[in-house]
Amino acid sequence: MATTTSKGLMNLALKAAGSSSINWYPGHMATAMRDIKERVKVVDLIIEVRDARVPISSANIELQEILRRKKHLIVLNKMDLANPNMSNRWSEYFEACKQDHVFVNAHNKESVKNMVRQVRTSLSEAIRKEQTLLTMVVGIPNVGKSVITNSVHRIARYNISVQEKLKKAEVGPLPGVTQQISAFKIGHTPSIYLLDTPGVLVPNISNIETGLKLALTGAFKDSVVGEERLARYLLGLLNSRRSSFHVKWKAEAEAKAFIEDPVAQLKFKKHHHQSDFKTEVRGVIASTLLDYVGNVEDEHDMEVLVDTQMKELRKLFQIPEEAGDTGWTKVSSKLLNLYRIGKLGAYTWDIVPEVAAQQ
Ligand code: GDP
Repeated sequence: MATTTSKGLMNLALKAAGSSSINWYPGHMATAMRDIKERVKVVDLIIEVRDARVPISSANIELQEILRRKKHLIVLNKMDLANPNMSNRWSEYFEACKQDHVFVNAHNKESVKNMVRQVRTSLSEAIRKEQTLLTMVVGIPNVGKSVITNSVHRIARYNISVQEKLKKAEVGPLPGVTQQISAFKIGHTPSIYLLDTPGVLVPNISNIETGLKLALTGAFKDSVVGEERLARYLLGLLNSRRSSFHVKWKAEAEAKAFIEDPVAQLKFKKHHHQSDFKTEVRGVIASTLLDYVGNVEDEHDMEVLVDTQMKELRKLFQIPEEAGDTGWTKVSSKLLNLYRIGKLGAYTWDIVPEVAAQQ
C-alpha cells in the first residue's frame, strides 16, 4: 500500500538494494512475536506505536490479524519529524477507517499526556464493564516505545498516591499466561495498567522501498543497507518531493545567491536563526536540484543528479579525495544524521492511500 514512486526513485531503490540481497531480519526478532501473542490474551487495549513518517510501512501485518479481536490504538510517534500537512491527511485517513489514533512527540510531556487521554477514550466502552483494565505497548524497533513507556510512567507517578507510586502492580498469573507480568498504573476508576515491557514487532518488508524507508527512519542499523546506499536513496526521495522541497528552500537558496555583501549575508543568517552548516547543506541539495536540467522521473537522470549532490556535499563537508571510498561513507553518515535529527526538514514518506484523498 505504501507506494511512492517515480521510476527514477524506484531505480535508485533497486540500486540501493544492490545485487546481494539484504538480510533484513536478525534472528532474535522472530521469537518476540510469540511472547506478544501470549500477553495480548490478557490485555484490553493494544497501543501500537508507529513512526509518523511512515504510518503504514511501520506497521506489522501479523499483528493486524491479532488486533481484529482486540481494541487497538495507533500511536504515530515522532510527529515532530513528520510533515504536519501530511499528518493531517493521515489523520483523515485513519478517521475514515474508524481507527483510533493519536499523533505524539514522545519527548513532549503534554503530547504524551494527550496520548494517555486518548487511551482512556479508546477504553471508554470497556471502562463501563471492567474494574481493572490492562494495556500494552507494541511496535517495531526504534519507533519510541521505551521513551513513551518511560514518559507515561513518569506522568503516572505524579498522578497516583504515594504507596501506589512505589508499588508495581503484579498482574497474573492469569489463564494462559505462565510468567508474572508487571505493570504500572496509569489511571483510576477503573484502574488502568500499562504492562511495563513493550513488545517488539518484526517489521514487514513487503517491497524494497518499504525496507529502505524503514532503514531511513531507523528500524534497522545502517549497515544492513549500507550508509552510502541509504544516503543516496534519501537524496532520491528529497529530489522526488520536488514541489515541497522547491517551495521550501527556493527562497533561501535564491536569497543566499543574490546576497553578496557579507554584512547583508550576516543579517540574512541572523534573521533565519539557522546555523551556517544546516543552511549550507540544505542550500546544496536545493540548488543542485533547482539548477538541474534533467528529468528526475528518468532513472538515469536521477542517478546523475544524486551523483552531483554527493560530490557537492563531500566538498561542503570537506572530506578530502585521499579519504577514498571511506570518504563517501562519512558524507553519507553526516547526511543521514542531519536528516534524523530533523535538520533537513520534516517529511512523511508514506503516501496516504486513495480512501483519504477522496474525503
Ligand atoms: P524503541 O526501540 O521503540 O523502544 O525506541 P526508543 O524509545 O528507544 O527510541 C528510539 C529513538 O527515537 C531514541 O533516540 C529516541 O530519543 C528517539 N525518539 C523517540 N520518540 C521520539 C519523538 O517523538 N521524536 C523524536 N524526534 N525522537 C524520538
